[in-house]
Amino acid sequence: MEDCVFCGIAAGTMPARIVWEDEDFVAFDDIHPQAPVHALVIPRRHYRSLADDVSESLLGRMCLAVTKTAEVKGVAGSGYRVIVNTGRDAGQSVDHLHVHILGGARMSHGMVNLVEKPEE
Ligand code: AMP
Ligand code: ZN
Repeated sequence: MEDCVFCGIAAGTMPARIVWEDEDFVAFDDIHPQAPVHALVIPRRHYRSLADDVSESLLGRMCLAVTKTAEVKGVAGSGYRVIVNTGRDAGQSVDHLHVHILGGARMSHGMVNLVEKPEE
């Protein structure tokens, strides 16, 4: 898709530190890491988010791509957190489906930081 930075990375026209890739997925380091290990896994094909028309097969293979990326990044044994921000309230900022893989240090148990309180 034109004007999509992650499509550009998948096509090799945008720079990225590639972790590994196969014919359907690309994994690369996040440009603003929030943990010692912070990689992203994307399908080469453009889907806007998890809420797009994503097949079971793609989801399954994407999970395997995540475990493969964790192995290559050296956190498969120590553990890692997987996040898929989806839509406005999750703060999704790049509209090409991507999975965050965070690890390399102990994380707190809390997974959610609300920026606004829900209405009573
Ligand atoms: P999200 O908020 O879930 O949409 O996350 C988007 C992520 O993409 C953020 O963590 C950004 O730091 C990361 N990001 C944006 N542009 C690039 C890029 N060109 N290369 C690598 N990571 C990027
Ligand atoms: Zn895209």
